[in-house]
Amino acid sequence: MLREFIASLRLAFALVCVGVSLILGAQWLGMLPDTERIQLQGRQSLCESIAINSSAHVRRQQWVDLTTILRTQVERNEDLLSIGLRSEMGTLRLDTGHHAEMWPSDPELEPRVEIVKVPITLNRRPWGTVEFCFHKPETSKLAPLTEHSIYRLVGFFVLAGLASYTLFVAKIMGVFSKTQVVPDRVRQALDTLAEGLLVLDEKGRIVLANRAFADTVGMSSEELALQSASEMAWSLPTGSEHPEVYPWMAAIENGELQSEQMLRYRLADGRNRIFSVNAAPLGGDDQQRGALATFRDVTHVEEHREELERMLGMLRSSRDEIERKNGELEILATQDALTGCLNRRAFFERFEKLWREAKAEESPLACIMIDNDHFKNVNDTYGHHVGDEVLRRVSKTIRDMHQHHGLVCRYGGEEFCVVLPGLSLRQAITEAERTREAIASITFADPAELRLTASIGVSELRFNPVDTQELINQADACLYVAKREGRNRVIAYNINMASEIENTSEQRMPKKAKRLEISYQAVTALMSALSYRDAKTAEHSRRVADLCARASALTLDPAQIYLLEIAALLHDIGKVGVPDHILLKPGALTEQEWEVMARHDRIGVEIVAGAFDCPELTAIISAHQLLGRSATDSAELPSDEHTLWCAKLLTICDSYDAMFSDTVYRKGRSHEEAIAELRRCAGTQFDAELVELFASSIDNRTPTVTSGAFALGKQAAIQIGQDVERLAEAIENQDLEGIAMHVLCLGKTADSCGIDSIVEAAAQIDAITKSEEVQWKALLEETHEILDAARAAQSEFLRESLEIEKRLSFPD
Ligand code: GH3
Ligand code: MG
Ligand code: MG
Repeated sequence: MLREFIASLRLAFALVCVGVSLILGAQWLGMLPDTERIQLQGRQSLCESIAINSSAHVRRQQWVDLTTILRTQVERNEDLLSIGLRSEMGTLRLDTGHHAEMWPSDPELEPRVEIVKVPITLNRRPWGTVEFCFHKPETSKLAPLTEHSIYRLVGFFVLAGLASYTLFVAKIMGVFSKTQVVPDRVRQALDTLAEGLLVLDEKGRIVLANRAFADTVGMSSEELALQSASEMAWSLPTGSEHPEVYPWMAAIENGELQSEQMLRYRLADGRNRIFSVNAAPLGGDDQQRGALATFRDVTHVEEHREELERMLGMLRSSRDEIERKNGELEILATQDALTGCLNRRAFFERFEKLWREAKAEESPLACIMIDNDHFKNVNDTYGHHVGDEVLRRVSKTIRDMHQHHGLVCRYGGEEFCVVLPGLSLRQAITEAERTREAIASITFADPAELRLTASIGVSELRFNPVDTQELINQADACLYVAKREGRNRVIAYNINMASEIENTSEQRMPKKAKRLEISYQAVTALMSALSYRDAKTAEHSRRVADLCARASALTLDPAQIYLLEIAALLHDIGKVGVPDHILLKPGALTEQEWEVMARHDRIGVEIVAGAFDCPELTAIISAHQLLGRSATDSAELPSDEHTLWCAKLLTICDSYDAMFSDTVYRKGRSHEEAIAELRRCAGTQFDAELVELFASSIDNRTPTVTSGAFALGKQAAIQIGQDVERLAEAIENQDLEGIAMHVLCLGKTADSCGIDSIVEAAAQIDAITKSEEVQWKALLEETHEILDAARAAQSEFLRESLEIEKRLSFPD
């Protein structure tokens, strides 16, 4: 700033010098008027005319008039101090006052006034003189300089000129330096750049805009010059946070490089362009001179990105919805289809958890067993559909009362088990009594006369049961006592009952003696060990258990189904001991390796036999293994028909899952292919009748058949939902390998369910991921298709499952 001022001052001084020499030249050439001489001439003529006038009055002796005239002259003329009329004799005949004092005795010694004497004559003889005293200018040393007009003019010119020239030159230089700071050849070079570029001064005004910038914003470089860049029509792209200052201002103010900041510019026609802006400060460390900003037009890329963002947002919300529906379907998978209560496996899983919590917190935990009285009579009198309706109403009553804070399980055909955490025995008895009354008050429109009663047994942790099963057994013993004592009552456990349970003969309690005592805790422990050793086998076992439950739902009662499920869960438990190189071998096994596998299968049977004192369970698993061998002596197979039936069904479910599922080295077959393969081997490897039962129970494309149909449909819907969730996640992470993998699974599951839209979209996505340059937009579009289809499929399955539930009837 100071430097610029000094430069302007020097230039102004030079200009002033030129001006002064011109003035002096003009003076020397006599072109300027001499004011002093003019003044002198004026005085001279004034004195002469007054002298002539005075001599005329003297001649006529008009002294009074003359005095008046002379006074008037003195008053009117500022320069004139006094006038006096002196005779030849030296006498002052008249004056204008004070003349005697004014008039100097010796003019040489009296510098205050300037005197003029004009002689007058009377009749051609000298009469005297008229004396004039004029004001004499100050006679300081500088007087000639200040008084002389030429010096005054030059002085004024120097001072005023210097000031005004300095301002003028500074202004001109500012404009000049701003517009001409960039040399033309640099300007031309910048014009060839494809990126927009602005050179800005320290106030953020545009010093230079290259052609690319001017063209993009639709203005000429001249129009842009000296505009404030910050006042142009900038805004922020959607989703960006407002920066404190524009990048170029940040570069100017902080002297820091600003990079890749997004700004949107609104053109005159209303369209928007999006720029990625970089800005670098100009000037040294001590002084900021401005900034250089580049503008990369990323409108196309940005719009594409925004579109992708939007689609990803939609994808996320679809995925959330699918996740939610998956949750609903998973709940359905844990429910008993007829009553909506927990099925046994889900019940035991949760019961074990509550048990552990209650033990850890030393809090109470109550168990209530409820059995409908003379239910057989209901079926016999009104038919099974009324029986089913009764079960639905009873279960609903029990669920409404206890589900929100406890577990409600359909434990047997018309038996329910309720677990209530935090309830003491007394409170549990009260709840049981309320439940009994609620069941007794159930009425039906048709048959209106039908009344229900239930017998209820109650127990609680205070009687020290060793595990969940013993707590249930205690409540069950009470239930038996309630039945024996006349039904429709609540009986609570007491310590004397322990001996009673033991003493009860088989004849007196035939049904109860058949109770299975399988500790679900032990099952969970073994499954955890298997999961840890080989998660895939554990998953397979769970799926086989599900398939068994679906396929046997119409034939076995809940307790038997539960036993079969446990057998299915544990049928591969021997694998925990198989060495890795065999267990995880990708190719076919050698004969020796098969032998190792078979040996471990036998070990598995021993594990089960040792862990559970349940011969039925061991028998099913062992028979299943015998069936799996190529040459089995039928004499080795169990004679018990029920066990053999279970083992055969388990073998079919096991083979189906092995065929249907993908493995590391083999893509699974479709549902149709797997069923066809089962049918091909029916009669030899598999029981022909059971293959058909299995096929009809899991044929998910014909949901009108039986409960088994929707059971797998539900599994497929959950599977699709999970695949879609993983696919969406892989797309969000731009994980191409993951996308390819999940799309493959999805396509296969969808194919087995006949959801063609998903199959097609999956094929499209597969093709896109394999193309050289991945088109993410197309990929997202296809994913949306899939999500829509998956959502629709889930809703359909949910709807179907509810409908089927309504239609289900219990077979004789
Ligand atoms: P009580 O318990 O009072 O001794 O007599 P009960 O008649 O209830 O005894 P039992 O346990 O012998 O009979 C249960 C009957 O319940 C047998 C079976 O036909 C019927 N049942 C079990 N599950 C269902 C079902 O899902 N639907 C229908 N309709 N009936 C079922
Ligand atoms: Mg009963
Ligand atoms: Mg019963």
